[in-house]
This record gives sequence, C-alpha cells and structure tokens, in this order.
Amino acid sequence: MVKQTIQIFARVKPTVRKQQQGIYSIDEDEKLTHSLEIVLPRDLADGFVNNKRESYKFKFQRIFDQEAKQEIIFEIIAKPVAESTLAGYNGTIFAYGQTGSGKTFTITGGAERYSDRGIIPRTLSYIFEQLQKDSSKIYTTHISYLEIYNECGYDLLDPRHEASKLEDLPKVTILEDPDQNIHLKNLSLHQATTEEEALNLLFLGDTNRMIAETPMNQASTRSHCIFTVHLSSKEPGSATVRHAKLYLVDLAGSERVSKTGVGGLLLTEAKYINLSLHYLEQVIIALSEKHRTHIPYRNSMMTSVLRDSLGGNCMTTMIATLSLEKRNIDESISTCRFAQRVALIKNEAILNEEIDPRLMIVRLQKEIEDLKAELAMATGEQRTEALTEAELLQLEKLIASYLEDQDPESRLEVGADMRKIHHCFHHFKKLLNDKKTLENTVSSESTRQACQEPLRDEEYTKLLGLLKQRDNEISILSRGR
Ligand code: ADP
Ligand code: MG
Repeated sequence: MVKQTIQIFARVKPTVRKQQQGIYSIDEDEKLTHSLEIVLPRDLADGFVNNKRESYKFKFQRIFDQEAKQEIIFEIIAKPVAESTLAGYNGTIFAYGQTGSGKTFTITGGAERYSDRGIIPRTLSYIFEQLQKDSSKIYTTHISYLEIYNECGYDLLDPRHEASKLEDLPKVTILEDPDQNIHLKNLSLHQATTEEEALNLLFLGDTNRMIAETPMNQASTRSHCIFTVHLSSKEPGSATVRHAKLYLVDLAGSERVSKTGVGGLLLTEAKYINLSLHYLEQVIIALSEKHRTHIPYRNSMMTSVLRDSLGGNCMTTMIATLSLEKRNIDESISTCRFAQRVALIKNEAILNEEIDPRLMIVRLQKEIEDLKAELAMATGEQRTEALTEAELLQLEKLIASYLEDQDPESRLEVGADMRKIHHCFHHFKKLLNDKKTLENTVSSESTRQACQEPLRDEEYTKLLGLLKQRDNEISILSRGR
C-alpha cells in the first residue's frame, strides 16, 4: 500500500501578448519548495499611491513556466504515474483551470506539431514501450473514453457515433454493486495491442468530441473528458491478475457562472459545469477536512466516476493550468486556491489483485495432467480414471485368495493405487452387507432357538478370525495411502 497526498503542479500558459510584467513570480527556496506568487496589479489609473502590495503565494510540487515544453511535463508529471500504473496501482492525472488556460493542450496536446503531443499520447507511447521490454508478464490493455456533459455520460468510442447524433446514443450510466464499486454501463472497452491502436482510439474519440461541437455548443469547454487506460497483467502460469486503471482527465472550464452568464442554453450549460465542478469542490473540501465521514461523491456523475481517484485507491496528480493575464487574475487565484485544498487529500493506493477462477481451473487441470504423467513414469503404467476389466479381474482374484487364506498374518497387496484400494473397500462392504442380510433372514426363521442358543465355539473362532483379518486389512490399506 502506498499512502500519498495528491500531488499538485502548476503550468502557466504562454501569453499571446508580451508577458505583462509583475503579475506573477516563481520562487524556489532552499528546501526545494516551489511557490507561485500572484501580485494584484496596482491600478495606476486610480491616481493614488497604494503602498500595500497585495499578493498571494501558493505552494506547488513544481511550477512550469510559459516556456516549459510538453516533454518535461510528461517526464515530471505523467511518467511517475504511468510507472505506478505499470506496477499495478490506479493512477489519475487531471487538469483543472479556466477555459483557454491549456488543459486540453496539456492532457491531449496541440495538433500542429509532433512535439506538441500531450500527456495522453506520450503516456501511451511510454506504456507500450515498457510492455514490450517486459517479457516477465503478460499484459492486456483496454481503452475507454468517456465524456460527461450536462450530467450525462457519452461513450466517445461508441461505433454508432458516425451514424447518430450524440444525444441519440445510449447514455453511459453509473451502477453501484453491493461492495460500492462503480461500474459504467454502456461505456465500451476497446482492446489495444499496440501504441498505434491506442492512439487511433484517442483520435477517434477526439474526432467524435469535435463532431458534437458546433459554435453554439462548445462542448469541449463545458464537458469533462476521461480517457482511461485499463491495464491487466499476470505472470505466465499464475492465476493472480493485477488490474490497474489510469485516468487522464480533461475537466470542464472552471470559470465562474457570472463570466459565462448568457441567456438560453449557454446558461443551462454554465450552471451545469459549475454545478459539477462545484460538487467536485465540495468533495475536495469534505476530504480535506479531518473527521468528515460523509463525502458527497454521489452528487454528480463526475465525482462518482472519479471517486477512487479522490480520497481512495489511487495515486492522483492535479495540474492547475493558469492563463496569467491581468483579466484572468481572479480565476487564476481561484484555481490555485482549489489546488491548495486538493493537496491536503491523502490517498491510499493498493495493488488490485484477484485470482482468476478460469485460470485457476486451467492451472489445476494442468497440474493433474502433470501428476498423472509423473505417476505413469514412476509406476510404468498409464492410469485411467477407472480400472480396466483385466485389472478388476486380477483384483477380484487377489481378494478371493486373501479371504480364503486362513493365515491371520496374510496380506492383501494391491500397491499404492487408490483406485484399487477403494475397490477393495467396496468389495468388503458388499460382502459384509450380504452377510448381514443372510444372517437376518436366517435368524428371523429361527429366532427362538437362536436367541437361546449360545454361539458355538467354532463360529466364535471364525468370527474372531474375520475380525482380525479386517483389522489387518484396514491397517494395510491405511498404510498404503
Ligand atoms: P483549455 O482546454 O483549458 O480550454 P486549450 O488547451 O484549448 O485550453 O488552450 C487554449 C489555446 O492555447 C489553444 O490554442 C492551445 O493550443 C494554446 N496553448 C495552451 N497551452 C499552451 C502552451 N503551453 N504552449 C502553447 N500553446 C498553448
Ligand atoms: Mg479544452
């Protein structure tokens, strides 16, 4: 088990205009703590001197400034999470920030240059590269891509996307089993055996996401997208399977309702995004407060899906994306504040191992085969489930001569073969039962005499001999086991 607080990183997007001086600064102290200071610009137009410089300081694991390349973002942020997924732990990376701050650029990447590839394609590339290197395990990789829009889930990899509109496709819904595990109904899982196949699925999902988008319906800023890599691994011959999921999450824009506040449809959407991010915030607050027992995961679809990533069995990382321009200062501060809360959450990641019953059966069957072969080699004879006619005949002869043998020391040697031993027992039981039935018939015919007549000496000795014989047989048979 690995206990870890959620790691928080910040990434500042390059500004279009030349960077406005003095809005923010990034420091690193001697303890290697990184902090981002955001300075509220003194409004010179106000005309009076304000000596109090208002500034806010936020600590992060690391802060990436405008010129940070996608490569370093992957190396520092995503690679450790991908590594822990390869080791069998669940992992999550989510990007949080206002629209236009670089969430999609960070998670998926820019389409123009190959070097602009984001976390998802780089992670897929890394995972498949590692899988190829590691021949000690058998890996299976599946991909799913879920979009949550206005509290409804859509499968971005549903093959029916081409023919039907997003709204007409079956919605992805949440099912909870008695152990409170979340299952997603109608979300398809696609096996990917190579990096190329996995990338194609990513592109397919992104295309479907874009098709649904019209100027009136800018779904991408208003929806949450969860790209999931499901990885199972097992050692050859072992029935223990490890399952790990890696969630790569591009959240909806975190801007507040007042800014998006337009009439009609847009307002409903704005309310919804804010509602679901508001619920995310509530979950984060509840998790960061000690002694809170109820965490309101169920309030929204997104928090239900990400339940394990937040305060559960997962190694989780958050990237706060910031567009640090003057007009975005309040949004940037609210993003950083959110991150500080997130950093208080402790997660416990455990290995998700289970025994696959099908594999267990196959393994046991193989073991039986091996043991049979070994036995055949040791005894020089092939064993089938039942004794052959010839073997039975031989055994009956052995039993008969054993029973006839008057020597109390005599033995019934059948060898270390359970089938023969069992057969002897069956035979003896039958003999005993037959004898009992016979005695009963005889005694009921001559009850009176029998009751009064004591056992004859001859009969007594015979019975005693039989008893001894049985004792012997039993001890022989139990020694043979
Ligand atoms: P969001 O998903 O948060 O709304 P985007 O990722 O779509 O924001 O970014 C908005 C625009 O800024 C896009 O055109 C994107 O290519 C560009 N952009 C974002 N971050 C960077 C960056 N670090 N370097 C270069 N361009 C970026
Ligand atoms: Mg986006």
